[in-house]
Amino acid sequence: MNTIVSSSNLNVNNSDIDVNNTDIYDRRESAVRSYCRSFPVVFTTAEGSYLVDGHENRYLDFFAGAGALNYGHSNPRMKQALLDYIQADGLIHGLDLHTAAKSAFLNTLETLVLAPRQLDYRVQFTGPTGANAVEAALKVARNATGRSTVYSFMGGYHGHSLGGLAATANREHRAAAGVSLHDVVFLPFPFGQMEHIDTIAYLRALLTDTHSGAEVPAAIIVETIQAEGGICIAPDQWLRDLRAVCDEFAIVLIIDDIQTGCGRTGTFFSFERAGIVPDIVTLSKSLSGYGLPMSAVLLRPELDVWKPAEHTGTFRGNQLAFVTATEAIKLFHDEQFETRTAALGQQAERGLTEMVCALDDRIDIRGIGLMWGIDLSRIDPTGAFAKAVSQQCFADHLIIERVGRNDTVLKMLPPLTITPEDLDDGIMRIAGAVKRCLDALDD
Ligand code: PMP
Repeated sequence: MNTIVSSSNLNVNNSDIDVNNTDIYDRRESAVRSYCRSFPVVFTTAEGSYLVDGHENRYLDFFAGAGALNYGHSNPRMKQALLDYIQADGLIHGLDLHTAAKSAFLNTLETLVLAPRQLDYRVQFTGPTGANAVEAALKVARNATGRSTVYSFMGGYHGHSLGGLAATANREHRAAAGVSLHDVVFLPFPFGQMEHIDTIAYLRALLTDTHSGAEVPAAIIVETIQAEGGICIAPDQWLRDLRAVCDEFAIVLIIDDIQTGCGRTGTFFSFERAGIVPDIVTLSKSLSGYGLPMSAVLLRPELDVWKPAEHTGTFRGNQLAFVTATEAIKLFHDEQFETRTAALGQQAERGLTEMVCALDDRIDIRGIGLMWGIDLSRIDPTGAFAKAVSQQCFADHLIIERVGRNDTVLKMLPPLTITPEDLDDGIMRIAGAVKRCLDALDD
């Protein structure tokens, strides 16, 4: 299985440059960089569930490109399709022209994803980041309804462009906008200290009370599992109730499936578990399957009120991403990822319960499919403990990031293609790191 290309075989074009020297980053790259501060090595190659650094160290990847690599690194089926396409001089850039790669993608999406789920969506290709998709979704919902307010949720994350940022809850992220962020009302999400608040009744009161101070919104945007917010899971019934309120008040329901979609929770769309049909769905991250940038907005045909070129961009529809996205959808379908992810998810829950939660009864876990949070906030609400665990994991060659309030939750996002052995191995490494950090607390 371990056929990883040695980094010495990698042609990084200039032999006088020591690519492992990180001084250049301090010297030249903006201070805004983030993940590289948690994992401060130079990575050279990657395959399956492993990343390799310039000193040939192998790291088990429980981060998967923040959810952009559901099918693992360098997935062989997608790699071959990509190589064949490039070899045949397939279009690399195509604006929003009709291309063979796009035709194949749209047809595959229609037959293997939309039709079997009886979903009737138009597809809008936006700029290649998740934030671009959110931006377009909010804009079209506002244009279609003629209303400007949007409701979002405490703990929600929808990207860093101004529209998406306005709907993102994290104060630190919002403060960086430098302008006031408008037209969004935040509602309590049914989690943590708000778990016992009847958020649906509260929403209904906001909408019906003529003295609530809140406008009826164009849209409600929600993640079915708040990922950056700390792996906070919206209950199925709550999602159904939210859908019902949106129907009652003609509000556009936008599910931001950028991190939870494309099979991460087992089903292709994360909202399938609740049996709801959103009006708009935003997709990105693992849509291309290979880590290539690509985003899309799925919208009910009656909401597709765009006039030609009203929302445009040079990089809408990455042709290479269409090629791998077509393969990704086929792979998801042919290899029954839904069943496989459900089984691996059960294994993850068992492993985390037996190996990690058993270490200390203040550790909580939450998750669905292969998206799990290990909540360490009851050990240390400041986040220092979670940071120490993540750093210890990295020292033990496991990559895992932190999310949630004060970054107190370890977010476990292994590739869906991970082997059961690697999944157990990674959980064992997390348990080892937690144990070591707990021991250090006692010292
Ligand atoms: N929405 C959600 C739910 C996300 O998790 C993210 C990325 N973490 C985004 C939007 C923004 O995506 P991008 O970083 O590609 O702009």
